[in-house]
Amino acid sequence: VLLANGNMIARGEMENGRHFATWHDPHKKPCYPFALVAGDLVYIADHFRCRSGRYVVLRIFVEKRNRDKCEHAMESLKKAMRWDEEVFGLEYDLDIFMIVAVDDFNMGAMENKGLNVFNSKFVLARPETATDSDYEGIEGVIAHEYFHNWTGDRVTCRDWFQLSLKEGLTVFRDQEFSADMTSRPVQRIRDVQIIRNFQFREDAGPMAHPVRPESYIEINNFYTLTVYDKGAEVVRMLHTLLGAAGFRRGMDLYFARHDGQAVTCDDFVAALADANGFEAGQFKLWYSQAGTPELEVHGEYDAGRREYRLTVSQTTPPTPGQQKKEPLLIPVAIGLLDSRGRDLPLRLAGNHEDAAETTKILRLPRQLETFVLQDVPERPVLSFLRNFSAPVKVGLDRPDEELAFLMARDPDAFNRWDAGQQLVLKYLLQQISLSRQGKTATVPDLFISSFRRVLLDEKADPAFLALALNLPLESWIGQQMETVDPLAIFAVRQLFRRQLRRQLRDELLAVYHRHGSQGPYRYSAVEAGRRSLKNICLAYLLVPEADGSLAAELLEIGRNQYDGSDNMTDTMAALAAVVNADRAAGDELLAHFYGQWRHDPLVVDKWFSLQATCTLPGTLGRVRELSRHPAFVLKNPNKVRALIGAFCSGNQVGFHAADGEGYAFLADYVIRLDPMNPQIAARLLTPLTTWRRYDQARQALMCKELERILAVDNLSGDVSEVAGKSLA
Ligand SMILES: [Zn+2]
Repeated sequence: VLLANGNMIARGEMENGRHFATWHDPHKKPCYPFALVAGDLVYIADHFRCRSGRYVVLRIFVEKRNRDKCEHAMESLKKAMRWDEEVFGLEYDLDIFMIVAVDDFNMGAMENKGLNVFNSKFVLARPETATDSDYEGIEGVIAHEYFHNWTGDRVTCRDWFQLSLKEGLTVFRDQEFSADMTSRPVQRIRDVQIIRNFQFREDAGPMAHPVRPESYIEINNFYTLTVYDKGAEVVRMLHTLLGAAGFRRGMDLYFARHDGQAVTCDDFVAALADANGFEAGQFKLWYSQAGTPELEVHGEYDAGRREYRLTVSQTTPPTPGQQKKEPLLIPVAIGLLDSRGRDLPLRLAGNHEDAAETTKILRLPRQLETFVLQDVPERPVLSFLRNFSAPVKVGLDRPDEELAFLMARDPDAFNRWDAGQQLVLKYLLQQISLSRQGKTATVPDLFISSFRRVLLDEKADPAFLALALNLPLESWIGQQMETVDPLAIFAVRQLFRRQLRRQLRDELLAVYHRHGSQGPYRYSAVEAGRRSLKNICLAYLLVPEADGSLAAELLEIGRNQYDGSDNMTDTMAALAAVVNADRAAGDELLAHFYGQWRHDPLVVDKWFSLQATCTLPGTLGRVRELSRHPAFVLKNPNKVRALIGAFCSGNQVGFHAADGEGYAFLADYVIRLDPMNPQIAARLLTPLTTWRRYDQARQALMCKELERILAVDNLSGDVSEVAGKSLA
């Protein structure tokens, strides 16, 4: 087949068995979404009827062996097309829309006009080969690239500094789409986890940059969480400040003004502001100022005056090249709960709005601001930054009991989840600190009892419960520490998990069985949620003792699930639980798994990742062996990410081993990969760039490797920019 952007207007045979195709794209576009595809591909076809009644032909092109794995991608595409018409009034503009999936691709996918080019990871799915999260990922990425047709292709960036114009906005759009397709609170929690675990870490490191960067050596290094995900948070804040209807008005004006143009982030904000009479001057600082703002919060109740006074101050710590920071306009959503956990109506002093409002968006434009809420009948419990209304850190001291109360009662689902995470985080940090002083860490009773209440909550959405039962990630725990101690973090976190298994074994087993498989696998948000709850119970049940042992009957549960599973979600969950519990049993299942799936590259990637992230001792040696495995191909980006990337970014306890072997291993691969794929090499390097956050011995070992990389002749701009900036 011969494909390009636009509509095909001619095709035919030529001499010598050659053939041709002529494509015409009626729309103006910049050069980067231009694409040509030539290959021995087959396609599946469907069509979509637009709101206006026009029919669009849909085709997904893949290699012949993958033809039966495209159905979910096609369904996702049709859902995305419908959603964009309904929510933003945006219709597709050509007669044909095509997707091509390829195995060797540096990124997830690319929005080439009318001809999206995809990493096959985000197209191919069958129940036996793809997990629920693969299904979710495909739906999200297919939608993202489709949405770029308007936010990226029709209205595009004037220059690469404006990358977030298309990416921040399109990530926001795909997040909203996924929220409508699945569960809004669950989607929000997942999006916030990315921001807090990884974007905040980027903000605190040597590569910190604003959503609209001011300089770069290699733009490929700026396809970052800041440009994409923080960019989406900035768009979301505009949505919060203007309301859904106001935001839509602004988007309509944006397209009316700029269709067919190459514009800037300022133009985008101006359209939203002008459509709503919003004064956007200060808000635009979110695009130019780097770093994560920190809020200090203090609340006081005056029973005599029935008033609640809320004082909030903001500061943003310095980042490289930006010492002094200005106050930002921050939208803060709050609620007040009475002693029974019900929302109180909020009346802001000096404001005569609808008194029935129970969540209020406070605007924080200055460094320090005090808000007075009136007619508050009793001492309330504050629910602060509901739905994570701004990408900020919050300092708010409160008693453990109050967090447990919010965890059980807050009507705002995001804050309910967050209160649980804060409570656990507090306990984890206390115990990590004790264990670093050589004292014995223990697990507080309030943690176990709160966890038990969540586990046994039969009314809540299982997908939400699964998130609530997950302990904070090692990365988030580390960010709260002066000096990150990866081994102590792992040990204490594992102790908490083990204690849950010991004290709540019967409850975990009951929930595990209650959510067991009913009938053959089907992907839906509800079914996926049920499986995620079941599988987190399984993971807890198989946490080994400190000496590595585990009761045979528990290990057997994992084996049985592996043997009886008809889908990759349950298979992978069982395999992961067993592999992290017991070497011998794990090896047996791993050998079986490889024998069954060796012909499927995407499944083999899972097999690599699972072994690379195993937290049992000796994993680095195994990763080295696997790097010589015939299925490992250094030239294939998916393989590099699945094995080398997974170990270095996803296995804190293995990568940060005190001898520095993990660091040397990473540096070796950066040096080997740089000549063949500098983009991937630069990305792989990220874990070393945070060296300042570790103890002196690790700092020295990490710097040594960074210097070794920088000393290599003919180093690419990609790698030398990242390594150089991190040592600067
Ligand atoms: Zn994009």
